[in-house]
Amino acid sequence: MDNKDDLEQGPTLIGKDNKKKQKDPPGIHNIGDPIMRFGKRFRFSFWYFLFIILLLLGFNTLFLQNRNVTTIDYNQFKELIAQDQIVRVQIQDDKLLGYSLTKEELIQQTQETNTIDTSQLLSMNTYSTYAVDDPTFIPLLDESGVEYYAAPEQSPGLLSTLLSYLLPMVIFIFIWRYLFSKMGQGGGQGVLSFNQNKAKIVAEGDTNVRFSDVKGVDESKLELEEVVDFLKHPQRYSDIGGKIPKGVLLVGPPGTGKTLLAKAVAGEAKVPFFRMSGADFVEMFVGVGAARVRDLFRQAKEKSPCIIFIDEIDAIGRTRSQGGLGGNDEREQTLNQLLVEMDGFDSSSKVIIIAATNRPEILDQALLRPGRFDRQVLVDKPDLEGRVAILGIHTKNIKMDSTVDLRKIAQSAAGLSGADLANIANEAALLAVRANRKTVCQQDFEEAIEKSIAGLQRKSRILSESERIKVAYHETGHALTAYMTQGAPPVSKISIIPRGFGALGYTLQYPTEDRFLMSESELLGTIDTLLGGRASEELIFSEISTGAGNDISRASDLVRKMITEYGMSEKYRNITLPSTTNQGFGGSREYSEEAQQYIDSETARIVNERYRLVLEHLRKNRDLLETIAQKLLVDEVIDGDTFKTLAQNVTPQ
Ligand code: ADP
Ligand code: ZN
Ligand code: MG
Repeated sequence: MDNKDDLEQGPTLIGKDNKKKQKDPPGIHNIGDPIMRFGKRFRFSFWYFLFIILLLLGFNTLFLQNRNVTTIDYNQFKELIAQDQIVRVQIQDDKLLGYSLTKEELIQQTQETNTIDTSQLLSMNTYSTYAVDDPTFIPLLDESGVEYYAAPEQSPGLLSTLLSYLLPMVIFIFIWRYLFSKMGQGGGQGVLSFNQNKAKIVAEGDTNVRFSDVKGVDESKLELEEVVDFLKHPQRYSDIGGKIPKGVLLVGPPGTGKTLLAKAVAGEAKVPFFRMSGADFVEMFVGVGAARVRDLFRQAKEKSPCIIFIDEIDAIGRTRSQGGLGGNDEREQTLNQLLVEMDGFDSSSKVIIIAATNRPEILDQALLRPGRFDRQVLVDKPDLEGRVAILGIHTKNIKMDSTVDLRKIAQSAAGLSGADLANIANEAALLAVRANRKTVCQQDFEEAIEKSIAGLQRKSRILSESERIKVAYHETGHALTAYMTQGAPPVSKISIIPRGFGALGYTLQYPTEDRFLMSESELLGTIDTLLGGRASEELIFSEISTGAGNDISRASDLVRKMITEYGMSEKYRNITLPSTTNQGFGGSREYSEEAQQYIDSETARIVNERYRLVLEHLRKNRDLLETIAQKLLVDEVIDGDTFKTLAQNVTPQ
């Protein structure tokens, strides 16, 4: 039984370092990087772009605007001819162009300067107008001795026309090719590989992390060793026809070493390690995340055997919305793609997906189905021994003097995670440097711990000393009651290490699985055990707390069920009182108002009676309660055998 004590629940416990970006050791490449690079290059190319535009504008003024064309009325056009202002006329269908220079004059001027000089060109006036059907026009031209012809003007007109057509085309092609080269860099798949990660995902065989670098999570390590074995000797498993789980979900509070464990698996198995964080998939554009998932799996399959590690999978894996509204299309598409990809390969492809989360409760159920993340590994906060070992690892390279006692430090660091401890070791070293010392002393560690704990207490992640004492007595109350009660299963573990997901401490009993059959005395034993926590608090502190809220509601539920479902009450012996049939609004009772009153009063009576009994038993064994609780405060965890030995000389009922 896991007696959840809901003194503190909720989001304060989780997600503390969700946003903290960890530095990757060289050699591990996050697949999410390339898009950021795209952004940088894009800004760079913007200047290119601007340059081209300016160039175009320049050409335009040079060749198109410089001819100083004045559009005038036909009337005026004729007048200018008469005044010899126009000496040459070009006829283009119904359009007339009049020039103030003859061809010879123009060529002569050009040859003189030997260049087509803009200023010279400007010295030539050009007039344009639209022709009317005027039979006197040609005679007028002949009469005034004006050159006229119907051919289109040569240079610079041709050049400018050419440029005005060609230049935009060239620019367009340039942009087009630039975009394509960006899109296609991944695998030459053009537009479709737009989201491909460009960074070489170095199939890094060695993450430089070994299992020996991870301490205090031995049970989790044991489970992951099997994964390593599979990656090392896939043949052994396929020969026998066995299947290894495709997906392993690491679940645990922040900073307990989930990421570290995944790296250790890769390091031990010496296989490529593709690492991506859930947030890397979530992009602004719909479809990008899904494409990245596809790409990730494609590359992984090429490099198999290998490990895909999706850190903080809750970013994409959270439960899909039920209704159409308020959904996040992009994330859901990404999640769907992930599910499809996971279904799309079998264990023979030797790709193992490891994911980590500190919020398993919000994950979509589809992710946890067999064939996906069907194996869950709990990565819990370390106990005392674990903390000593973790401190050992993180102080390996720190010069410490003889005053340092790691065990003592670990003792005062109850409830802290591996990451917190690593932090403390570093902080202690910094304190020593600040004090101008060459070695770190115990005092530094104590200061570092105080700092860290004060910070964490503010975030209410760990218990104050008085709360710890309360939890210790509460849990001992459960355990001792279970021991004294006939029907209750034996205690296998008592712990006051907060579990991160709401429980402040817990008492574990065997058998933990659901029972198919429970006798009346076993039910009563379970109820007693549930009430034991609060009874112990009342006995020791003469005051009860909210810590037993969950216990109380489970105990009263059970009593109510005994009366209504199991027919175990005095008055309605062997009669069920089906509480609600879910027909109609609010359901309907199938028993009388009187029966309802009986149920309520009988529930209260039984709970009170059991509670008084439990309190009495504990009072008789108060010394034992004290002894065990004090031991629990020191050791934090008491296993079943130790508990049995301690509880042996209990005063029987
Ligand atoms: P999580 O992924 O569970 O949030 P990390 O694996 O990122 O935690 O841990 C962060 C750092 O804390 C690690 O790089 C390591 O230095 C330290 N650490 C955490 N847990 C352990 C552990 N069990 N043993 C050794 N070091 C640990
Ligand atoms: Zn409890
Ligand atoms: Mg992590």
